[in-house]
Amino acid sequence: MTDWIARANALTPETRLFIDGEFRPALDGATFDTIAPRHGRFIAAVSAAGEADVDAAVRAAARAFESGVWSRADRRQRQRVLLRLSDLMLENLDELALLESIDSGHPIGDARGVDVPNAARTVRWYAEAIDKVYDEVAPTPRNALALVTREALGVIGAVVPWNYPLIITAWKIAPALAAGNSVVLKPAELTSLSALKLAELAAEAGLPAGVLSVVPGFGPVAGQALGRHPLVDKITFTGSPAVGRGFLSYAGESNGKQVALELGGKSPQVVLADVDDIAACASSVAWGIFYNSGQTCHGGSRLIVDERVHDELVAEVIKVGRELVLGDPLNESTQIGAIASARQLERVLAYTDIAESEGAIVYGGRRVRPEGLDEGYYVEPTVFTGVDNAGRIGQEEIFGPALAVTTVRGAAEAVRVANQSEYGLAASVWTSNITTAHTVARELNAGTVWVNTFDVADVITPFGGFKNSGNGRDRSLHAFDAYTALKTTWINLGDSPLSNN
Ligand code: NAP
Ligand code: MG
Repeated sequence: MTDWIARANALTPETRLFIDGEFRPALDGATFDTIAPRHGRFIAAVSAAGEADVDAAVRAAARAFESGVWSRADRRQRQRVLLRLSDLMLENLDELALLESIDSGHPIGDARGVDVPNAARTVRWYAEAIDKVYDEVAPTPRNALALVTREALGVIGAVVPWNYPLIITAWKIAPALAAGNSVVLKPAELTSLSALKLAELAAEAGLPAGVLSVVPGFGPVAGQALGRHPLVDKITFTGSPAVGRGFLSYAGESNGKQVALELGGKSPQVVLADVDDIAACASSVAWGIFYNSGQTCHGGSRLIVDERVHDELVAEVIKVGRELVLGDPLNESTQIGAIASARQLERVLAYTDIAESEGAIVYGGRRVRPEGLDEGYYVEPTVFTGVDNAGRIGQEEIFGPALAVTTVRGAAEAVRVANQSEYGLAASVWTSNITTAHTVARELNAGTVWVNTFDVADVITPFGGFKNSGNGRDRSLHAFDAYTALKTTWINLGDSPLSNN
């Protein structure tokens, strides 16, 4: 087995801002410490972008866009560069995965098997789309021709969270760059290292200077500066609803830029009495919430289960949770790694007390201290049963490995309880009746619904939410379109001016 700890110790991550094709410190020299959640210790001091740094990155992006070096480049040239970037990500699989694992707490097995390959596939998929997306010709009278064409928007500000740093970054920058835009990326300050490596690889792949800049820093400083910048044409954001609304304000108070939001969730996993295979369902329900320690925006954090299968299913989910291997993210056999930060650890643990105060029965819910990693941030898989869906445990996004179980009877009550949420990101339903499956899937208010499965996802389908879960869609060609504006061009093919009748 590879000694990932030794390899992690030998890493010297890039920590400077990447602006206009160069790594450099912040203009005022500011830095912040980034910590490894696996043992709570210092990894590196990362440059903290201030307003002036963000301004420099945005101006470089706008200059690059205006110059046409990327925005008007031959499509096949853009395609070659992005395909090369995807290849380089896989050639640098171990380093990218290690950076992701030490910075975010993801198990190295997931980082190597999921995060990096998924991000690389996303870049490749949009690169391949570049010469496969056609524009439109409108059905005009014969004396006219009207073209409806997509044009790049200009400068895209991408602001991302810490839970899947590489994957979410790829979902944003790949379609934005493929469409010909320039991008300024602000990673979450908890997890900036993989984004800086990505910037290096993008330059190596041949992306021209200024087309992609990466400005780590604090949300209220660097994130806000991007949100308010008059030369930014669109913000694409993933994170919390409160900060997402802040970006709408920044846009309204600056240049009215577009704002696409991917926010949180409290996704219900609905299990009806006629579920076919309880063991398979339990395994899916457990993985649907415990994967990545529940730090997944669409994590299946509510189990809405028919009382007739409740006891058997819940016992099985708890058993699966207990069997998961929790421990050092740098151990290849680890299935559940660390929580991303000390603050998030405290937040998650506080919900154990809240659950008790609301009368739920708690299984798990405590901090775990793996040997030698006593100061790391680990929480055991947790199940709260007897949850009132209207209470805090049923309504609030915990963003930890905690499943809230609510009992119902019949499909109609299950749908009503599932939809009793401010969120609408994802949902699932388990049933052996195809009519029930379709009718319940229609009724669930969610951007994604899974039937007899959970968390199947690929770049080929859109992802995003209803209600407070946001208004944007990542992935698929719908996301590509979202980084373009439509232009209509009317051409007179007749002898006299075109008229409207
Ligand atoms: P967050 O606090 O909203 O942060 C997201 C990003 O916004 C980070 O880069 C953050 O920077 C920045 N930010 C924070 N405050 C800001 C401000 N006042 N102005 C401008 N930017 C600001 O969310 P988080 O705590 O990092 O992430 C967890 C949340 O994201 C959860 O609610 C989760 O459900 C949601 N999420 C949603 C999806 C989805 O696709 N729908 C995916 C993943 C996560 P700093 O952190 O560096 O300060
Ligand atoms: Mg944050």
